[in-house]
Amino acid sequence: MKEIRVGIVGATGMVGQNYITLLRNHPWFKITFLSASSKSAGKSYREAVDLRWLMKSPLEKQVADLIVFDAEDVDAARKNCDLIFSAVEMEKGKVALLEEKFAEAGLPVISNNSAHRSTKDVPMIIPEVNADHMKIIPIQQKNRGWKNGFIAVKPNCSIQSYMTPLFALMNSGYEIEKLIVTTLQAVSGAGYPGVPSLDIVDNIIPLIRGEEEKTEKEPMKIFGSISENQIILNEKIKISAHCNRVGVTDGHTACVSVKFKNQVPDTREIIHLWENFKSYPQDKKLPFAPEHPIIYNYEENRPQPLKDRDSDKGMAVTVGRLRSCNVFDYRFVGLSHNTIRGAAGGAILVAELAVSQGYI
Ligand code: NAP
Repeated sequence: MKEIRVGIVGATGMVGQNYITLLRNHPWFKITFLSASSKSAGKSYREAVDLRWLMKSPLEKQVADLIVFDAEDVDAARKNCDLIFSAVEMEKGKVALLEEKFAEAGLPVISNNSAHRSTKDVPMIIPEVNADHMKIIPIQQKNRGWKNGFIAVKPNCSIQSYMTPLFALMNSGYEIEKLIVTTLQAVSGAGYPGVPSLDIVDNIIPLIRGEEEKTEKEPMKIFGSISENQIILNEKIKISAHCNRVGVTDGHTACVSVKFKNQVPDTREIIHLWENFKSYPQDKKLPFAPEHPIIYNYEENRPQPLKDRDSDKGMAVTVGRLRSCNVFDYRFVGLSHNTIRGAAGGAILVAELAVSQGYI
């Protein structure tokens, strides 16, 4: 297969640095273009991230020597890459417009940003859950007169730790009626430098602005269906969310209470469905697909961010503490790595999905 040249927009940030680390030795994708704010533009990548390289592994020379462009330079992107990973932090309207300009210039865009998450002809993808929503891409291209370019997004990092486990149950006929979700979200989710240390050390902040709304709304689109040339929301599941920032570096945890609509599975059945769940990325053996997308940990005090966030290269969701609930039917705890499965790794898997389906 011909190597695909990729560009990272927002390359110097928390998510951008994760892309750079994760794409090292990727069998299909090669980093050939980097961009960030005008502050970084014109510098080598090494200079641009001087004193703020946050990854554990050292920066590779091939990427370190690339010159960083201005994020707004669509022409430079068009000349230097075939696919964009968007991880830029700007005002939402500006991101939406910028991503549209890339798509118009013929570049597929896979975005981490929330700007296009509620756009009706833009798919919001967790590849194990709704790979079929990629079918909206030819409709999006027709609507906007784009030839090869398109926009696909991945959802908010806070919902990844329970969406696939819920889907595994729904896919086996167990309809879900209601959820109460309490998230405990890592500081890396706020980017770099992120939350001031004096706010978060020895503390929990019970507000992440906009996060509860996203947590309640985004599942409706992911569990939705394509009809009349748009994605129709599934409004049957009601979600109440509490989102908290906690002093953990990486890994978002969610404590979930779930009520089924009709039939209620027993505990053994739920764990069996989770442990045996496989989907499109596993069937197609996509390079970033975890072998087991859901890992059930039987130890009573798990999952824990420190011990479980890196499961299967940070791409698996770890669940545990499945038990009955006095108010709803069941309770469980889910955990996923926010900057890998919830950001760069999840987006790489979406890009692999797009390649495997012939959209790139
Ligand atoms: P970050 O660490 O703050 O990085 C922001 C990036 O955007 C940097 O490359 C920065 O470049 C660039 N940037 C900032 N202002 C800009 C401007 N006015 N024009 C052009 N570029 C600009 O943020 P992050 O955590 O990586 O998040 C990036 C995106 O991913 C956000 O939309 C975020 O919501 C989303 N996301 C993050 C996570 C996570 O876990 N962190 C998870 C899912 C989704 P300079 O270095 O040059 O300033």
